[in-house]
Amino acid sequence: MGVTLDLSRAASAAAPTRPNLSGLTRPQLAAALVEAGVVRPEKAKMRATQLWRWIHHYGLTDFDAMTDVAKETRAALAEAFTLTRPEVVERQVSRDGTRKWLIRMAPGIEVETVYIPDVGRSGALCVSSQVGCTLNCTFCHTGTQALVRNLTAAEIVAQVQVARDDLEEWPSPKEDRRLSNIVFMGMGEPLYNLPHVAAAIDIIADNEGIAISRRRITVSTSGVVPELGPLGDQTQAMLAISLHATNDELRNELVPLNRKYPLEQLMAGIRAYPGLSNARRVTFEYVMLKGVNDSPAEAKALLNLIKGIPAKINLIPFNPWPGSPYACSDWKTIEAFAAVLNRAGYASPIRTPRGRDILAACGQLKSESEKMRASERRRLDQAALASQAKDAPAA
Ligand code: SAH
Ligand code: SF4
Repeated sequence: MGVTLDLSRAASAAAPTRPNLSGLTRPQLAAALVEAGVVRPEKAKMRATQLWRWIHHYGLTDFDAMTDVAKETRAALAEAFTLTRPEVVERQVSRDGTRKWLIRMAPGIEVETVYIPDVGRSGALCVSSQVGCTLNCTFCHTGTQALVRNLTAAEIVAQVQVARDDLEEWPSPKEDRRLSNIVFMGMGEPLYNLPHVAAAIDIIADNEGIAISRRRITVSTSGVVPELGPLGDQTQAMLAISLHATNDELRNELVPLNRKYPLEQLMAGIRAYPGLSNARRVTFEYVMLKGVNDSPAEAKALLNLIKGIPAKINLIPFNPWPGSPYACSDWKTIEAFAAVLNRAGYASPIRTPRGRDILAACGQLKSESEKMRASERRRLDQAALASQAKDAPAA
């Protein structure tokens, strides 16, 4: 299923140590231009606005294509800065159209980003906020990978730019977008990296650039309660909470962070989320684990827990990964669970698993996944060969 990308642009990305302008906030961009002596301070704001459109509306990676910038200035910019993208190490396309990119931000810093068509208005990009994760939710593949480090704002924005390059969606269209929504549901816990997540959202939401409105940006958290207020204040993003259990005993097990911020604190934090209203509901994510959290009694307990909160509930069929200790609930059980919520008036869509064949579905991301897939593939190949002919050579 792997598709090889033309990596010629990536090759040139390896060398330069010149600062990259394409992931800076507006004030940082203006400051960088002045600091490098390319622009006089009194002209910095104007020049930054001009560059901003080229970088974030047109998606340019080459100063030379900035036709309304004087030739000498373009040369000075190219000498001082770069606009190159990080290297796309691997690109995969699922049978259902889901795309997954493995992006190398720096040596040893690899993240996965997933584009899911036909979500939201037209398509959602699932971005990562950290490489690995410090929280060990027992059902999550990323949780088995130790935290390598937080991603910078530029590295978060780069995921959007890489997706836009591949979807050929520059200049940033106002309507009929293929990429209309952003969800922070990739690798990592975004609220453990709030400053960079907030700066990235400022860049992505900027109306003169990528222009994805804050109402179409959702940040998903496992429940870092003290950061909920700051998230709302700083980003005005939509909130999603990975709930998964309705009592502390089970949630302690599934989402160990619950020991630090138990349900009572979490629910109080959600009720106080800035901007929460019927028009801006919180999404509760609930992964359906067979025989663990999927009974009708638990659906009722869920209703009790969230009473009075403007909310929708996303039921996520558990996506298995190699070695995962759970199974996905039966379809009938998921539907019965959803029916209890629906009867109480909640929208509770069952999230159709997307991109499972390329390990791109919720909770399957992990940056060594290529290695794992290769070994899995080898094992499967061997089994297939062995069944065809007993004396077949091992693949
Ligand atoms: N760390 C954040 C965001 C990334 S996880 C958080 O936990 O919210 C994105 C969503 O995928 C979360 O709701 C998470 O609980 C869910 N998820 C993790 N592993 C999963 C799996 N194997 N199957 C289905 N959903 C999973
Ligand atoms: Fe981390 Fe979220 Fe996975 Fe939990 S579900 S381990 S918080 S990425």
